[in-house]
Amino acid sequence: MKIISINAGSSSLKFSLFDMNDETVIASGLFERIGIEGSCYTIKYNGEKVEEEVVMKDHTDAVKILLDKLISLGIIKSLEEINGVGHRLAHGKEKYKESVIITDEVIEDLKSFTDFAPLHIPANILGINAFREVLPEVMMVGVFDTTFHQSLDKETYLYPVPYEWYEKYGVRKYGFHGTSHRYIAGKVKELLGKDEYKLISCHIGSGGSIAAIKDGKSVDTTMGFTPLPGIMMCTRSGDIDPSIVPYIMGKEGKNAGEVFEELNTSSGLLGMSGYSSDMRDILARCEEGDEKAITAKNKFVRSVVNYIAQYYVLLGGVDIIVFTAGIGENSVPVRKQICEELECLGVKIDPVINEKRAEFIKLSTDESKILVYVIPTDEELMIARDTLNLINR
Ligand code: ADP
Repeated sequence: MKIISINAGSSSLKFSLFDMNDETVIASGLFERIGIEGSCYTIKYNGEKVEEEVVMKDHTDAVKILLDKLISLGIIKSLEEINGVGHRLAHGKEKYKESVIITDEVIEDLKSFTDFAPLHIPANILGINAFREVLPEVMMVGVFDTTFHQSLDKETYLYPVPYEWYEKYGVRKYGFHGTSHRYIAGKVKELLGKDEYKLISCHIGSGGSIAAIKDGKSVDTTMGFTPLPGIMMCTRSGDIDPSIVPYIMGKEGKNAGEVFEELNTSSGLLGMSGYSSDMRDILARCEEGDEKAITAKNKFVRSVVNYIAQYYVLLGGVDIIVFTAGIGENSVPVRKQICEELECLGVKIDPVINEKRAEFIKLSTDESKILVYVIPTDEELMIARDTLNLINR
């Protein structure tokens, strides 16, 4: 059984080809600058890496080249070996509470959800249509970023705003990174060997969100109606007072869309440091004593700690805290500082073990009242698993 996981962006297409017999990645790669001059791809397989600049006028070209290459590089013998294609989809609104087989109806629904993820949904549809054209017989599955958080209760997902905004326009908390938090929840269940547990899953990458998870179900999460709120991120502000928006509009003669764009792309670590959105650069500047970088890093840590504290109370105590994604898996000083600020909750980690990166590790010591782990996330595998499950159904 071979399944391809796809994450399509407006000018990119990321793929992983899994052999689902043992859930191994046979090949993975990225097609970039699709429809733009200088389009190119990278395919990694069997310890090798192939890179080439090649004209791709659209996503269909990218998919054709991908499938040709899988055969010409000997990764698969024929297209018949591909049993299913799973697509990462940005938004399922309230209609989609789990992954689905992609039909015409699903595509129509996605189109009608475009307002909710204006950059991502059109790109997702491009990816779906490209595979439909090139592999029309192969079943496709949609895995939404939002579905895992459909278990939130009403007090949690409603905002304290006029109720008609929810009824008429769907204004509510949806939450994102659901596939990653669901993967972490599955790993924790395996690790603890039980269905009942209280977990705080910290997905801290270039975008970041934290989820409070009880017995496998999301009970709250930091992202909201859009991925903008919650913890401070690399370029997104996280929570701010919304009154800042009209104030800056007036001061700078900008419209709401322009200010919103700045909150998404020029804020967070980048905005506060005035220098870089990459935590590695910020940490290097902190070493040099750069005050803005130090404040940015401290604010970042504080925003994570504040939500962990809030979710600790919400869950009525916590069994396990997990760090994942780029910063969560790799940033030793950030993890250290977060855990130090959580010492009042009885968190204690081993500083030597914390030096490790990008590995499944137990950070907490035996004295710690809460288990703390680093678990590398694997959204692609979740997409492939959902695809296989739905095909088998
Ligand atoms: P994305 O949301 O794009 O998938 P990732 O989960 O890959 O993001 O996280 C990317 C971020 O992880 C980078 O912006 C960088 O700040 C951070 N990162 C990656 N490696 C390290 C490292 N060794 N130390 C600190 N931060 C790191």
